[in-house]
Amino acid sequence: MSLQFCSLSSGSSGNCQYISTDNVKILVDSGLSGKKVENFLKEIEVQANTIDGILVTHEHKDHIKGVGILSRRYDLPIYANTNTWKAMEGELGKINEKNIIEFKTDEGFELKDLAILPFRISHDSSEPVGFAFYHKNKKISYLTDTGYVSDDVKKKIRNSNLLVVESNHDVEMLKIGKYPWFLKKRVLGSEGHLSNEDAGKLITEVLSGREQDILLAHLSKENNFPELAYQTVVNIVSEKGIKINEEVNINLTYRDKPTRVFNY
Ligand SMILES: [Zn+2]
Ligand SMILES: [Zn+2]
Repeated sequence: MSLQFCSLSSGSSGNCQYISTDNVKILVDSGLSGKKVENFLKEIEVQANTIDGILVTHEHKDHIKGVGILSRRYDLPIYANTNTWKAMEGELGKINEKNIIEFKTDEGFELKDLAILPFRISHDSSEPVGFAFYHKNKKISYLTDTGYVSDDVKKKIRNSNLLVVESNHDVEMLKIGKYPWFLKKRVLGSEGHLSNEDAGKLITEVLSGREQDILLAHLSKENNFPELAYQTVVNIVSEKGIKINEEVNINLTYRDKPTRVFNY
């Protein structure tokens, strides 16, 4: 047991991920109420008062709703880059000065024995990031809320034991769905969200050949179905001759319950 990951909740109604080593326990975003996060943690047998800090990807509500509450309740440091801190001003409530910690995008840092690389992504917020986590020779990458994936980001998420990747919408469902036009344009744009097809293609491009786990994340409630996301990605990956359940395991995240705990 060394590097662990659990998606406590993922989707436009709230995002919160848990990552830990034997020495440090971190949340990535907290877009749910403090109570919900506590309950989801309990489901995986983690006490909320043992969490060491919260990393923030970007300032959208579905990622920061519970950040201030948890920081105050458990005296947790919050880690975000400069522009995300600026954008969060007034959104988190009063945060203890010592718990305001800035990191620099594209510069690695360490929390105990967990090495963290925040990398720039393409989304309509001030300075959005994904994260690559390293512990010993294991790696987990987290990439959601991006409309476009650059070659540089592809490089950064390669060779992950676990890749958590956005599979937000089915393009046809979105197009014929009830979202207003401006919102459809936003989601489909290069600063929006990755579609199921985008996720499938990206996975084929970054697979390293060794057995890997994939978690499909940030599924839209309106413009996707879990089965559709899963099947679309499986089809695209299989078409490339990659063997599902042998070379790659594809799993779903949920809006209303944690995934299993992935252990590396
Ligand atoms: Zn989001
Ligand atoms: Zn967002």
